[in-house]
Amino acid sequence: MADYDVIVIGAGPGGYVAAIRCAQLGLKTACVEGRETLGGTCLNVGCIPSKALLHATHSLHEAEHNFATMGLKGKSPSVDWEQMKAYKQDVVNQNTKGIEFLFKKNKVDWLKGWGSIPEAGKVKVGDEIHSAKSIIIASGSEPASIPGAEVEIDEKIVVTSTGALELGKIPKKLVVVGAGVIGLEMGSVYARLGAEVTVVEFLDHITPGMDADIQKQFQRTLKKQGMEFILGAAVQKVETAKGKAKVTYKLRKDDSEHTLDADTVLVATGRKPYTEGLGLDALGVKLSPRGQIETDAHWATNIPGIYAIGDVIDGPMLAHKAEDEGMAVAEVIAGKHGHVNYSVIPGVIYTTPEVASVGKTEQQLKEEGRAYKVGKFPFMGNARAKAVFQGDGFVKLLADKETDRILGAHIIGPAAGDLIHEICVAMEFGASAQDLALTCHAHPTYSEAVREAALACGDGAIHA
Ligand code: FAD
Repeated sequence: MADYDVIVIGAGPGGYVAAIRCAQLGLKTACVEGRETLGGTCLNVGCIPSKALLHATHSLHEAEHNFATMGLKGKSPSVDWEQMKAYKQDVVNQNTKGIEFLFKKNKVDWLKGWGSIPEAGKVKVGDEIHSAKSIIIASGSEPASIPGAEVEIDEKIVVTSTGALELGKIPKKLVVVGAGVIGLEMGSVYARLGAEVTVVEFLDHITPGMDADIQKQFQRTLKKQGMEFILGAAVQKVETAKGKAKVTYKLRKDDSEHTLDADTVLVATGRKPYTEGLGLDALGVKLSPRGQIETDAHWATNIPGIYAIGDVIDGPMLAHKAEDEGMAVAEVIAGKHGHVNYSVIPGVIYTTPEVASVGKTEQQLKEEGRAYKVGKFPFMGNARAKAVFQGDGFVKLLADKETDRILGAHIIGPAAGDLIHEICVAMEFGASAQDLALTCHAHPTYSEAVREAALACGDGAIHA
């Protein structure tokens, strides 16, 4: 008899959720994790610590820029960087301990150490070999390097996001390579702490893949907040000497070479799947050319009894996508019907203002030749947004021209990361823009802007 029904490798949002759901469905389950704490990249060095720093520095920004306007007079707080990092670590610890508690509550065994798969049905952790009817690989991802550039990461001067969460001191000059979500969130943190932040991006726009209207507005807003952008620039090398860094890049439009000096360089050019030490080659598990584990529509690899989910497979590298796959694969293994709707996975950037999107962008609809309509509403027409100094953004809703069915939504503004879910639910139910427009929304809330954008898809918004 096998030791376990299921062994999950990796306790990030994909792995820990899969393990808990397997146990809830009556399967004897263990989860292997090599880190000292559970929760994976997300809880330890990703989503959670970055949001703690974003919250702390947003509060500082409010004190420095908006308190006096609201009649809250007095000196702005000074920054105790060590204490801010301690607060961030405390938030991380509370959350990682929470997963330990959930494992105990659901009777999931934590097999501590790095796991490998010597053969199908077996997982080796340290010197011990455990057997399982099914194995789920949820080994996640690691930072990618800059393609074609000479860069050595030391996690002190030249850092990945992991080092950027733990800098010894706040840099005077920070260069961020890559204008994606992680680069802009961490860039925002240090800009609010007083660093001169320059973002160097290969493409001609920031946040690749997002709706072009959002890209433009978001860049304008970040520029107003003091961040500088060098777009269309290919970084050639990053050199360090005497505790400083020099970034050399070439502008793609004319091949001219330039340099930037920095105290810290954050390399935020994406992440790649992590499969080291699992023994996948010997097993014959199929990988894509990008190193992702290939799976079918039910997260099964080409080797019977081995499944894979999360950042290590295809799709957006997001915690909630990994979690959804974790729940769904557990249900498939338990003989149920696990399902993930990949066309309704929201993406959020937790800067101020927040940016959130779901479904198709306007550019994608144009490429598909689909007839669509746009309903746009500026937060300037939303009383609540103005009260919190965030009237700059907008809600943009895309709906099918004939059927009025919602195809996508793109929001830049207060609490965008929460507002987007009303639209996600509507899309899951196949709702029309009119369904949203006819739903009573409480006043005064930010969500009235979503309703107004829906109204703008029909006979027109009221407050614009
Ligand atoms: P991971 O979280 O990477 O977990 C994999 C785990 O497997 C790791 O703990 C690793 O130690 C373990 N492991 C690997 N191999 C083995 C082995 N052989 N044996 C034992 N253990 C092993 N996503 C969002 O949705 N929202 C955000 O706000 C967000 N912010 C982010 C901020 C930063 C700075 C970063 C870096 C990422 C952020 N992400 C965010 C992305 C998110 O962290 C990932 O998408 C998510 O963690 C993926 O989950 P996962 O379970 O696939 O893998």
